[in-house]
Amino acid sequence: MRDSSYSAPLDEALFLLDHIVEWRGLFARPEFSHGDADLARAALTEGARFAETIIAPLNPIGDEQGCRLEQGRVRLAPEFVAAYKDFTAAGWPGLDMPELMGGQDLPLSVQVAFAEMINGACAAFGMVVVTLRAGGRLLCEHAEPQLVELIVPRLVSGEWSATICITEAHAGSDVGRLRTRAVRRDDGRYELSGTKIFISYGDHDLTGQIIHLVLARTPDAPAGTAGISLFAVPARNLEDGGSNGVSVSRLEKKMGLKASPTCVLDLDRAVGWRIGPELQGLKCMFTMVNLMRLDVAVQGVALAHAATAKALKYAAERPQGGPAEHAPVNIGQHADVRRMLLIMQSRTGALRAMVFEAARQLDLSRAAETEPERRAARMLAEFLLPVCKTCAAEGAFEIASLAVQVFGGHGYIADAGVEQYVRDSRIMAIYEGTSGIQSLDLLTRKVLKDGGARYRLFTAAVQQDLRRCEGYPDCRDLLAPLREVLQRLESCTSWLQGRATVAPRDVEAAATDFLQLVGLTAGAWMWLRMAAAAASGSDADRQRRHLARFFMQWLLPQAGVHESRILQGSALIDNTT
Ligand SMILES: Cc1cc2nc3c(=O)[nH]c(=O)nc-3n(C[C@H](O)[C@H](O)[C@H](O)COP(=O)(O)OP(=O)(O)OC[C@H]3O[C@@H](n4cnc5c(N)ncnc54)[C@H](O)[C@@H]3O)c2cc1C
Repeated sequence: MRDSSYSAPLDEALFLLDHIVEWRGLFARPEFSHGDADLARAALTEGARFAETIIAPLNPIGDEQGCRLEQGRVRLAPEFVAAYKDFTAAGWPGLDMPELMGGQDLPLSVQVAFAEMINGACAAFGMVVVTLRAGGRLLCEHAEPQLVELIVPRLVSGEWSATICITEAHAGSDVGRLRTRAVRRDDGRYELSGTKIFISYGDHDLTGQIIHLVLARTPDAPAGTAGISLFAVPARNLEDGGSNGVSVSRLEKKMGLKASPTCVLDLDRAVGWRIGPELQGLKCMFTMVNLMRLDVAVQGVALAHAATAKALKYAAERPQGGPAEHAPVNIGQHADVRRMLLIMQSRTGALRAMVFEAARQLDLSRAAETEPERRAARMLAEFLLPVCKTCAAEGAFEIASLAVQVFGGHGYIADAGVEQYVRDSRIMAIYEGTSGIQSLDLLTRKVLKDGGARYRLFTAAVQQDLRRCEGYPDCRDLLAPLREVLQRLESCTSWLQGRATVAPRDVEAAATDFLQLVGLTAGAWMWLRMAAAAASGSDADRQRRHLARFFMQWLLPQAGVHESRILQGSALIDNTT
């Protein structure tokens, strides 16, 4: 019997919302004044209960039963259909969606706290919500008002769902090579033809309608990304629910996330509306992509937490080892097991805080007092997003693997419920932009191309907290390691700025280590802030202060490895003889 138990990190979420997000300040702004922290706290408390009792039991069911393609339609296990009904009846899809569209318009940082709980309980279920919300936001920002009114309220209520259709067989990371064609009709709509692969929730039986958000090329469009436009294509036509030329030709069998259907979609003169100006499709799609990158980071944190929580419980209960003349001790007492648990806890804590900080900046980009402050918040969020997405995705896989190690052989067996986290998390460093692509995006677009403006916002924020925390006695041990890693980052950045034009290959070779170095700096920054806020004598605060020290002293030295790799440039990679 598989262990489907899940314990939502409600206390940690509330701690971060209080001290990192400072949500009372957000609720004081006119943009969020219709809500308040007490209301949001009550919603999250109920959300934790919902995740633990309604969603968590789906996790092993989905992993074992997956989904099926029957007569051209994808079917999920009936338990998923029932849980989705409960999920939508309770209004969960609209937590941060606009009030006018039927949502509650709470800050994104509150939605992130809720999404962690749903994804930690069952990431395959959480996936349908990711595209539905991000698709709704995309339409609100770029579609004509009549289309927004027609579609978005139905997404917010969960009656309809949405997909993101970018990938084609010959166009993965290289989006500019996509070939799906869109031809304008006399009535102003378009007919789309082509094949999209790997489409998450491309078909399913949770909703009666699916709105596919599709990137395609109009006739005579220029080659590459400059020739791409964006379209909304309903799976079934809106007039009579009949076929709209969209069919599923294949349902993929895969390593994990088995209950999240991954489909090959054939479009055969499927009729849809253009969203945003012609040839601006990729730019418009980035509204959805950026939100989904944050959501993938949330998925990563969610699985890292779920795996860590199971490992902690197991280590406290599993008797093994100790002197033969005594009863065995619990494995949690062995130094090596404690080491693994501390790595898992301190990495997960840092990743969660980074993701909450990115969401906070996105909230401030809407609600900060002045336009320059809103702009700075947006730029800092843009800098943090690829770092959060990549570090959380890779962290989830590594932390889940450590959880299996803590369980020993029992972790390799499905019943323990931890090997599923390893399989489910593996995709997170691939979809929504691979780690390699995220690293290049961070280094080339967010550091080198903007003259270092976003990067300097980041380092200035870290410096500000270093100064603020100088007077905190509990932070004394933390300041020097954070200063040191920041210094390493500064020297790598200025070296890379010097190489950008003379040796761009050095920049490419350094991108992954550069992102990891930023990730370590951001994690240490978060632990400094958390330790400064964890001032009480409670067990939880004592534990936070210890995890902060552990992160600084045990994990941060890895920064030196990244620095030395960055400064080697591309010579060792390219000169193989
Ligand atoms: C389960 C699942 C769900 C998915 N859901 C969706 C979805 O809903 N919608 C959708 O549109 N797509 C979806 N995808 C597709 C996913 O986004 C792509 O798989 C991903 O973008 C990578 O593309 P690719 O698989 O073609 O790999 P490739 O682009 O071929 O990359 C292979 C390797 O080469 C590296 N690489 C490629 N180009 C470069 C470069 N220029 N510089 C450096 N390194 C490079 C990559 O980092 C990677 O390591 C999904 C995929 C899966 C498996």
